[in-house]
Amino acid sequence: MLSQFSRLRPVFTALMLVCCFVATATAGTPALFSPVQQECSRIGHKLGSVSVRDCMNRNLRDTGARSVKGQAILMKEYLPLLHQRKPIGRVLLIGGTHGDEYAAVSIVFKWMQMLDRHHSGMFYWHVTPLLNPDGLLLHRPSVRLNAHGVDLNRNMPSPDWYNKTAAYWKSRGFDPRRYPGTAPLSEPETKWLFEEIRSFKPDAIVSVHAPYGVLDFDGPPVGPSDIGYLHLKLIGVYPGSLGNFAGIQHEIPVITVELPHAGIMPTRRQISNMWGDLIRWLRYNIPKEKTIKAYAAFDAITDRLIASSPLPRHNKKGQTQQERNTKAAIPDIPSPAVIRPEGPTLTPSNVHLNNQVMN
Ligand SMILES: [Zn+2]
Repeated sequence: MLSQFSRLRPVFTALMLVCCFVATATAGTPALFSPVQQECSRIGHKLGSVSVRDCMNRNLRDTGARSVKGQAILMKEYLPLLHQRKPIGRVLLIGGTHGDEYAAVSIVFKWMQMLDRHHSGMFYWHVTPLLNPDGLLLHRPSVRLNAHGVDLNRNMPSPDWYNKTAAYWKSRGFDPRRYPGTAPLSEPETKWLFEEIRSFKPDAIVSVHAPYGVLDFDGPPVGPSDIGYLHLKLIGVYPGSLGNFAGIQHEIPVITVELPHAGIMPTRRQISNMWGDLIRWLRYNIPKEKTIKAYAAFDAITDRLIASSPLPRHNKKGQTQQERNTKAAIPDIPSPAVIRPEGPTLTPSNVHLNNQVMN
């Protein structure tokens, strides 16, 4: 009997060790129930530079907004520290408009980590690290578009949206990667963004993309000449883009950070230098007089856009025309027949800036 026990002892020991390990590993790990926990789990398993714990430690909150596939749009708010100082302005920071630009999500997490340590109250921040959770998290590999196959950076209201986005999309050979949707703000993600800008009234918007390795600026002049190793190169505006909508129509400075690689993170020093330059520019350049005036006229500007492109109109019950009649005929913009599989990611070496459509 004793000799049998001695033979089995290594097995018992191994079993005990496994039990202890499992108990230790699961102790203190909350069940993945809340939308924030579920999404952090998906983000942590998708991105090499952001772990589940990194995501959970940011204490993001559920905005209540949902993507096409019902994933939460998360946000972190860094409130003004009024006992210390009056903030210079409000800043909205957005990552992950295009789901296949991994680094554009990861770097926003890194910057949030810096804000968590050093938020001084200089600005009042709203940070949304992932505007397009369906594009990043529901595909392998991830895709640029949302779950309706819409490019969210072509779906914002801009003048004469129907004619101009149709003409632009045609000029792009009906490229499915730049499908603007059937109507401005047809997508839940862009609807949320529109309402967020309307309600938060940021003095500047910073939107992170990849992989063109430049800095773009739309809005009241003049933008930063450099953000870290990225240099200003105005790449023009597109119908339905955030830069067109917020920067040109509403005169809110929009800084578009185009990282050089979608799948490779900048170094720690580059991440830190970019942040330092961004803060410096914001500190001395916002709020802009034009932006303040434009906010006073936000609804009038929106009405002008509605007059030029039939935006969803709100009735007295807060219901939009689009919600009442989701099948409104849009003759000029056919739906994409097939969403083509994603091609290889462009790298700066094979991008021709002058004729390449970006962000
Ligand atoms: Zn992009």
